[in-house]
Amino acid sequence: MTGHYLIFGPPAAGKGTQAASFKEHLGVPHISTGDMFRAHLKGDTAIGLQVKDILAAGKLVPDTVTNAMVAERLAEADTAQGALLDGFPRNVLQASWLDGYLAGRGTKLAGVVVLRVPEDELKERLISRAEKENRSDDADPEVVQRRLDTYREQSEPCIAYYLDQAIVPVHEVDGVGSIDEVRQRIQGAVR
Ligand code: ADP
Repeated sequence: MTGHYLIFGPPAAGKGTQAASFKEHLGVPHISTGDMFRAHLKGDTAIGLQVKDILAAGKLVPDTVTNAMVAERLAEADTAQGALLDGFPRNVLQASWLDGYLAGRGTKLAGVVVLRVPEDELKERLISRAEKENRSDDADPEVVQRRLDTYREQSEPCIAYYLDQAIVPVHEVDGVGSIDEVRQRIQGAVR
């Protein structure tokens, strides 16, 4: 099952949780650009300083910064057999950059999973997540709304890009249900 896979889902769709079991299933490392940026923030790195205000506002980090960070990560030895990318690509330019990058390595995407969750449910989940976890970009309703809007405006066209190209199987999965139910749906879809 190895290869390069993508998992898409709006904020609070359960992408991170599902990615953790899906990467085990695939046998590839999980690469989350959101986690990577948060690690940079915590470590006070140059990238961390550069993206601090952007993340706090719920906007997208510039593609040049994000693509370079992903390229560096994908060059590490553990991704030789593939990877599960989570949070990347997030817009059409990142998607076409990734196609070029993989083509340069003589490979292409193996599959795309899209978690579908209605926006009302997402808002409820985001509110309860803000209470439980201490993620500053979850606490402010305006920032949450911006991330939902950014997903609709930039990531949805990115999914459409893969559907239009029809060169990679796109699996749309219902993200409403227990963690286990959704996990089984994903594994059932990607065979
Ligand atoms: P979410 O729960 O909103 O999906 P993530 O953990 O995936 O959050 O990402 C958190 C933040 O990191 C985003 O709001 C954005 O500022 C930044 N980010 C993550 N991935 C990307 C990307 N591919 N391009 C630009 N910015 C990104």
